[in-house]
This record gives sequence, C-alpha cells and structure tokens, in this order.
Amino acid sequence: MDFSLSEEHKLLRQTISRFVKKNIIPLAEEIDAGEEIPSHLLQDIAKQGYFGIRYPEAYGGAGSDMISYIIMVEEMAYGSMSVAAAVSVHTSAGTMPIYRFGSEEQKQKYLVPAIKGEKIGCFALTEPNAGSDVAAIQTTARKVRDGYLLNGSKTFITNALRANYAIVAAKTDFAKGRKGISLFIVDKETPGFQVLRKLSKMSIRGSDTGELIFEECFVPSGALLGEEGKGFDYLKESLVDGRIMTAANCLGVCRAAFDAGLTYARQREQFGQQIGKFQAVNFKLADMAVDLEAARLLVYYSAWLSDVNKERAKEASIAKLFASEAANRIATKAVEIHGGYGIMMEYPVQRLYRDARFLTIGEGTSDIQRLVIGNLLVF
Ligand SMILES: Cc1cc2nc3c(=O)[nH]c(=O)nc-3n(C[C@H](O)[C@H](O)[C@H](O)COP(=O)(O)OP(=O)(O)OC[C@H]3O[C@@H](n4cnc5c(N)ncnc54)[C@H](O)[C@@H]3O)c2cc1C
Repeated sequence: MDFSLSEEHKLLRQTISRFVKKNIIPLAEEIDAGEEIPSHLLQDIAKQGYFGIRYPEAYGGAGSDMISYIIMVEEMAYGSMSVAAAVSVHTSAGTMPIYRFGSEEQKQKYLVPAIKGEKIGCFALTEPNAGSDVAAIQTTARKVRDGYLLNGSKTFITNALRANYAIVAAKTDFAKGRKGISLFIVDKETPGFQVLRKLSKMSIRGSDTGELIFEECFVPSGALLGEEGKGFDYLKESLVDGRIMTAANCLGVCRAAFDAGLTYARQREQFGQQIGKFQAVNFKLADMAVDLEAARLLVYYSAWLSDVNKERAKEASIAKLFASEAANRIATKAVEIHGGYGIMMEYPVQRLYRDARFLTIGEGTSDIQRLVIGNLLVF
C-alpha cells in the first residue's frame, strides 16, 4: 500500500497552489462581498488548462486522471469556494455529460470551446418542486417536427448567468416517470429560454446561482444528449464522480478553515500565553486535525477507486457526507478559536464558515448521502 502522491501529482499541486495563492486568494473577499467572480479570473484559469484536466488531448484537454482533477478542485476550494463551485460545475456537470454521452458534433460545438474557456456551461436539473426527488421534475420536452418544445422552470442553477449553454433535464414522456427523463443542450440565446433572476445567498456568494425559465422553447433534434429517456441513467452514472469532486471541494474548505484556526491559535495571546497552548483550544485543534485527515483519506481513496475503475458509489457518498460535515465542524471550531474576531467580516474565517453551509446541500444533502449509503449496505 502506498499513500504518497506521484511526482507528477506533487508538481501539479505545487503549480495550482501557486496559481491560487497569486490569483484567487487575494480576490476571495472581494468575490464574496461583490457576489461576483471577475470574468478575467475564469479566463486565466482556462488558460492554465485547468478546465480540461480530465478530458482527452483530442478535445484540447490534458488527459489526466481523477486524482489530478481532485487536486485541482481541492486547491481552488482552498482559495475560494465560490470560484471552486463555478469551476467544478463547468468542468463536471456542465461538460462531462457531453463528453460521455454526446455526439461528436456536440463535443466539437460545446466541449472543445468549454475546455478553452470560450463557452461556460451549467447543469439544470433542480426545480422549485423537485430537489432531492429528481424523478419529480416537471419540465417537459414535447416532441414536434424536427425537435422539441421545452416548458418549465429550474432553480438554484450554478453559473446560470454566466453560462453560454445549459444542459437541461426534461421529461419527454411524463407517464414513464424517471424513465421519461432526457437531457438537452440549450444555447443561452435560444428564444423561449430566459434567466429569470440571480439569487442572493449567504454561502458561496460569489458563485452565481439563478433561476431559468423555458417557455415554448424550441430546440432541434440535435440538442438531445444521448438517447431519449436515458437522462436518469446518465445522471446516476455522473453523480458518483460528481460526489467525489464535491468531497474534494469540502476538503479544500476543511484545510482553509484548519489553517485559519491554527494560525490564529499560534498568534493570539491571552493570560500571557498563546491561546493554542490552553488545553481547551488545543483539543479543538486536535479534533479539527482528525476531521481533516479522515476527510483527506476518504476523498483520495474514492478518487483512486475512480482511476482504477472500481465500484465506488458507496465510497463516493461516504466521502461527500463525511467531508462536508467535517468542513462545517472545522469551520465552526475555527470561528470559536477566533473569539469575537471570528464573526467580523474582515476575517476570512467567517466566509469559510458560511461557505461550508452549502457543502452539506449541493450534489445531494447529507441525509440523501445516508440514504444512498444505507441502501447500498442493505439492498
Ligand atoms: C448554492 C447551490 C447551488 C446549486 N447548484 C445546482 C446546479 O447547478 N444544478 C442543479 O440542478 N441543482 C443545483 N442545486 C440544487 C441542489 O442540488 C439541491 O438544493 C439539493 O439537491 C437539495 O434539494 P432541495 O434544496 O430542493 O431540498 P429538498 O430536496 O426539498 O430537501 C429538504 C430537506 O429534506 C431532506 N430530504 C428530502 N428527501 C429526503 C428523503 N428521501 N429522506 C430523508 N431526507 C430527505 C433533505 O435532506 C433536506 O434536509 C444547487 C443548490 C444550491 C443551494
């Protein structure tokens, strides 16, 4: 058994970490307060080739493995969870279904420019009345001559405002329930497709989240992704590695909050000594270190399972559940270690505390992960 990263992976981490320290960390507070990621930052990230880490060279990617991708996502989240959310959605749900299930024409039209950063993607599944219960989506795609007419609304969509296209889940056959779900690629400028509004959040504020509306929105037959009625199966297949990716986001936040707590505990003095030397504070740091190390092992183990193509649905959910809850525990303790400064807007630790709140919700809530793990254990 070998727990060490390869020289290539170590070098990748050093390079991305340098990029994050120089280009993302100095902007993290501004991105949070202004609720916006500057476009040039995403372009800079694209120029580094980070949008294409997982995709083959034939499409402009780096052809690297899941561990490399996880390293990139973790480092981005260490710098800013808002930036990591935008990058994660674009490089996974916003492009992966096209790579895995799309036609060559769709790959050339969307994936190739998405890897270059010329197009940004979003993934529209959640609806006002269908969150965890994916099969309950009400958006319909009615077959007409040469295409489909989309009607319905989507909410909580990451990159909604910035995206040039959306991968939209809609029912082509309502009577078939989940077997009637299909995926479509819809260009932003398509008549009948509208971004209704941007939602303001307390967590990952810089990542744009919006509502989408489809009203008699015509898309040609060529907009169908893969086969009609296979959307739910495609989602299930994509969700597993998506959870590993989200767990890596959580790990980045765990590390950032741990570092903030440890640094402050070493600097701050009360009663004539560093507060980190008081056993109460010291034990908090110890618990934070335990959570961080356990999260790291679970995340990298599930990423490794992905690279060796082993069954990993349970491990992905375990990693996501543990790492997201660990991020909340670590961030809470880091705020407590900061005393009153912990809730001052000028200290980044409050942002980490708020950003951690999103992590137990996105890509399946904690209880949905428990449901998945429990079902895989019993059935
Ligand atoms: C910032 C942000 C960004 C997002 N980005 C996207 C995106 O890009 N694309 C997209 O499609 N979606 C996105 N989502 C939606 C996200 O995936 C959903 O919020 C999530 O799946 C939960 O759905 P819900 O919010 O409707 O909660 P609900 O499903 O209504 O859940 C509410 C509560 O009930 C619990 N619950 C529900 N069902 C069960 C059950 N069977 N057993 C036990 N407990 C249950 C949940 O755990 C939760 O605690 C985003 C959400 C947020 C907050």
